[in-house]
Amino acid sequence: PDALEPLAAVVGADLKAPLVDGREVRYANLDYAASAPALAEVATHLFEVLPFYASVHRGAGYASQVSTSVYESARSAVRRFVRARPDDAVVFTRNTTDSLNLLAGCVPEGADVLYLDIEHHANLLPWQRRAHRSVTAAPTIAETLGRLESELAAGGVALLAVTGASNVTGEVLPLAQLAALAHAHGARIAVDAAQLAPHRRITAAPEDERTAIDYLAFSGHKLYAPFGAGVLVGRPDWLDAGRPHLAGGGAVREVRLESASWALGAARHEAGSPNVLGAAALARAAQALGALDPDAWHRHEQQLREALASGLEGIRGVRVHRLFADSLDAIGVVNFSVDAYDAGLVAAFLSAEHGVGLRDGRFCAHPLLARLGLPSGSLRASFGLGSRLEDVERLLAGVAQLTERGPGIDYTVDEGRWVP
Ligand code: PMP
Repeated sequence: PDALEPLAAVVGADLKAPLVDGREVRYANLDYAASAPALAEVATHLFEVLPFYASVHRGAGYASQVSTSVYESARSAVRRFVRARPDDAVVFTRNTTDSLNLLAGCVPEGADVLYLDIEHHANLLPWQRRAHRSVTAAPTIAETLGRLESELAAGGVALLAVTGASNVTGEVLPLAQLAALAHAHGARIAVDAAQLAPHRRITAAPEDERTAIDYLAFSGHKLYAPFGAGVLVGRPDWLDAGRPHLAGGGAVREVRLESASWALGAARHEAGSPNVLGAAALARAAQALGALDPDAWHRHEQQLREALASGLEGIRGVRVHRLFADSLDAIGVVNFSVDAYDAGLVAAFLSAEHGVGLRDGRFCAHPLLARLGLPSGSLRASFGLGSRLEDVERLLAGVAQLTERGPGIDYTVDEGRWVP
């Protein structure tokens, strides 16, 4: 298939967006990196599971048994999706943020966590709150690896926490190299895969142990499933020794009035009634991604990315931002600014006059935006399986029109509608 056609059916593909002049147009969703629309097959699966709505692991009733089996099968599907080790824990959480906070509570005391300045806050703040070291990324990936190596060689680092792909620029980091580097210095690697997992097959346990990923975190809502479920996959020892993420029912083996013995495995961190529907949806989305033809998937994404990036670069006054001069791979995310225009105004114009949705701001990555010299933010267009070339063309036409109109434009939103 070429980029003119979506690669998969998504819910809301024909959504209409109201324009400021009263017309309605098909909504061009270029905000997949924030939350991707649910796959149609994920929505269908939810309706199959809904009749069995019942608490898991607690009831002997039929619905409870089915619900429990759906939940545990979802765990297995996630394990297969990231090609994890058989003994890896698969813990269901609320989202990537929750997963990384959970992990932060399990890293052995006293050891440092190392991270870069290009991270999403979810992969920065949980580490900043404990013993940590940070490294400023260099203008090239090669030099950045060198800086990380020096820091690792100094000793005392238990974990290197790094993103799989930047949520701001889409650039993909060389995970195998990073893993080998961490392991060579006795550290583990945790990958924030919130952006990578919806775009690339990930192998947590490749044949070459040195390049294995010890921990992976991602969110259902970026993986074509609804909000509310995320996952942490990884080596069980720290997780079993660490502090239970939540204290409550299901996470314990035996409770006495003044003390408790905590469960091991995923249960230790999953106190309370779990989000069975969220887990089932996330797992079904993972299965669907796993079944995609990798070549068609890659071609669809790269054709759209090329059209978007080169189209933007061809408009006077538009700058496309990237982090590294030597990055070889990027997911469906393009970051840009329009000179002389506030990013918020560009986003409002594209929405109000063209029905195009994208994100402006600092993308929960303040240190990264500071290093790009964009303290007041920029724009991010992002796409995925349901995207078409027409979406990209609408964005490009809108940006070109704006640069011709001049910046004297103003809008506000009134009950979900744009008013001049
Ligand atoms: N990491 C990255 C790279 C992200 O893009 C995001 C979401 N913007 C997160 C973490 C946090 O994900 P969530 O909000 O689902 O916890």
